[in-house]
Amino acid sequence: MKEQLEKIKEEALKQIGVSEGLEKLNDIRVAYLGKKGELTTLLKSMKDVAPEDRPKVGQLVNEARAVIESRLEEAKTALAKKAREEQLKREVIDVTLPAKKNSVGHSHPNTIALEAVERIFVGMGYEVVEGPEVEYDEYNFTKLNIPPNHPAKDEQDTFYINKDIVLRTQTSPVQARIMETGRLPIRMISPGRVFRSDEVDATHSPSFHQVEGLVIDKNITFSDLKGTLAEFAKEMFGAETKVKFRPHHFPFTEPSAEMDVSCFKCGGKGCRFCKGSGWIEILGCGMVHPHVFEMCGIDPQEYTGFAFGVGLERIALLKYEIDDMRLLYENDIRFLKQF
Ligand SMILES: [Zn+2]
Repeated sequence: MKEQLEKIKEEALKQIGVSEGLEKLNDIRVAYLGKKGELTTLLKSMKDVAPEDRPKVGQLVNEARAVIESRLEEAKTALAKKAREEQLKREVIDVTLPAKKNSVGHSHPNTIALEAVERIFVGMGYEVVEGPEVEYDEYNFTKLNIPPNHPAKDEQDTFYINKDIVLRTQTSPVQARIMETGRLPIRMISPGRVFRSDEVDATHSPSFHQVEGLVIDKNITFSDLKGTLAEFAKEMFGAETKVKFRPHHFPFTEPSAEMDVSCFKCGGKGCRFCKGSGWIEILGCGMVHPHVFEMCGIDPQEYTGFAFGVGLERIALLKYEIDDMRLLYENDIRFLKQF
């Protein structure tokens, strides 16, 4: 029986030695150590062994079993290691291959210009307020002192949703909405998209952007307006920038003016950029009209204020010396990449 045991053990170890897969190892385990395996069968024939020899034989069987088991385990580990090495070899990364580049976009020139304007006014303590692009005719015109049949309505012809609702022609209705809340004083800018029924050309578009500002408090005067906008011009176009105010007319301000800045290209001497004049027109402004105060529920005897509006595209075009507004909307990557 001892010889038989040795024979089984040797045969098992030999098979383990030449097996080349985990499945094969498992087959060997079943064939020798399983319920119907050779070793188990041998153990069953213990009844034929003399009682005094049984402990000795049992010990031998257990030893053989332990040897086969440990050899199976070793073979399993070796196979797993080999498989892992092969896998690593297969999946080796060639670091010399050129990487795929992610294309990262950046802000549109309009957005860059808007952020510059916002930064300047937020720095002066202004709040940034936005409002609806689809607006009541009343807020867009009437409350801003543009009654029905006023000629200014013709200049700002827009798109009508119905007779009472329009696509806003300016961001001023946001100011009317803020004034109506009655929370005073007010120091705000309202940036956003506006609409006019204009034909598309180098300087016009049916949709463009404005930033309008409004300050209302007691004892606000025209000198506050001048000081604020002169500071804005210096921050935006350089410390040397001078400003000039020309009388103008807007229905919602009185007195009204247009502001020019000294040409930041030639310093005011005159060049192609400023068409030889040394000045560049930049924005409209004025003291808030008493009618506007009344229509928005503010007492014009107690409060005064100023307002201004600047075209965002105009700032972007000047800042980057772009000569055609259409370029800002064409989404041509070759153009946009330059900013
Ligand atoms: Zn110039």
